[in-house]
Amino acid sequence: MNTERIYTKDVSKYIDKEITVMGWVYNIRDLKKIKFIILRDCTGTVQAIALSNEIDGQLFESISRIKPESVVKIKGRVNENKQAKQGYELVIREIEVLSPCLFNKLPIDLSPATTSSLDKRLDNRFLDTRRPEINAIFRIRSQIFKATVEYLDSQGFTKIETPKLTVLGLEEPGNEKSGADLFEVDYFGKKVYLAQSPQLYKQMFVAGGFERVYDIGPVFRAEESHTTRHLTEFTGIDLEMAFIKNENDIMDIVEGLITHITMQVNKTCDRELKLLGKKISIPKKIPRIQFEDIRKLLKDMGKEIDEEDDLDPEAERMLSQYVKDKFDEEFVFALGYPFSKRPFYHMRPEDNPKSTCSFDLLYNGIEIATGSQREHRLDILAKQAKEKGLNLDNMPDYKKIFESGCPPHGGVGLGLDRLTEKLLKLNNIREAVLLPRDPERVRP
Ligand code: ATP
Ligand code: MG
Repeated sequence: MNTERIYTKDVSKYIDKEITVMGWVYNIRDLKKIKFIILRDCTGTVQAIALSNEIDGQLFESISRIKPESVVKIKGRVNENKQAKQGYELVIREIEVLSPCLFNKLPIDLSPATTSSLDKRLDNRFLDTRRPEINAIFRIRSQIFKATVEYLDSQGFTKIETPKLTVLGLEEPGNEKSGADLFEVDYFGKKVYLAQSPQLYKQMFVAGGFERVYDIGPVFRAEESHTTRHLTEFTGIDLEMAFIKNENDIMDIVEGLITHITMQVNKTCDRELKLLGKKISIPKKIPRIQFEDIRKLLKDMGKEIDEEDDLDPEAERMLSQYVKDKFDEEFVFALGYPFSKRPFYHMRPEDNPKSTCSFDLLYNGIEIATGSQREHRLDILAKQAKEKGLNLDNMPDYKKIFESGCPPHGGVGLGLDRLTEKLLKLNNIREAVLLPRDPERVRP
């Protein structure tokens, strides 16, 4: 007799043995002399059956009163049964309700083809994640995280934790809107802000002797965006590296990272991908296309982008489609964004001050990362800030980095939420986040 709890995924290893399983009651089917329970745990499901002639009459009857989603412990014998969907079933000897579910009707529909809206599901997210296919999304997300850490570790990066409460708000590098997208926090009567990027801190510790650093953590943006790709709080994978030749070194790391992630997810998430009916392709070689060439090819496709303009969402989609058709790749690096659209600290090429040594990584039509070589030469940095109407003297913590010996360096910010969304071809970033935050949603 095995008294230890067995996961449902392992039940088939115990044919003709007595085992104990625990989990949630997904479904009960009640026939006269036989009752079926589908029990679900974090590894899958198993069909348990109660036979009226094999267990105590009271116990048999009590099964009908158990409500779906109650937590139960079942002891029984594993029986091979060719008719059962899984080829085996658990014949119930004892069943104990560890925690009843009290709802006659659950707040959301947990069936695979749920009829509940995304909003309702998010309101009841911890019920939603009981659905194996939703659970699978977050197991995959967890593996993306793990693969990221593995890869960056293998490339000599040090994980740092950057503060999320900061006074480096108003003129924080990257924030051209002078605080417009910062959340203000009352800090013992002082105004501080939730960090909208770890940019300054990454650069600080590249100069701090680590050379290669990364942080994975929350990023806050007080933008009233109502899109399927913006949240007010998201998870940023931010890295920064020193002694680079140019921005290609950063793209090499990003490409290596994406390759490692896609390979690892394929390797470790077979069950989850099957559940979701998704396939993830591993990039062969991510194309790197210069802005002038992008402008030309978009023009050929009937879309004009001005020299000083960014790629709008339509242009991003068109470029991705072009790359898919021409190279059969789902990722593309767009290179050399105009300085007018980039923060002051992006380096400019010697021969083209209107451009920057920067890139975006697009994945199936949307931006998932932005990176660049940073300007490390103090005089040029001060000049670039001035061109943007900023004054380096008002950013003493930032300025000091470049007054103290700062190597040539660059880095990238990549959104884990968007990456997960696009990897699994979900329709909304909210599907890839457990408890998304947007202008309307701060609960639960
Ligand atoms: P977008 O132009 O799509 O609004 P951005 O250029 O303002 O994004 P960056 O500051 O470059 O964003 O941030 C780096 C990465 O962080 C983005 O490429 C994206 O993956 C992610 N990201 C940025 N803003 C958001 C947001 N509001 N919600 C979710 N992810 C975001
Ligand atoms: Mg960007």
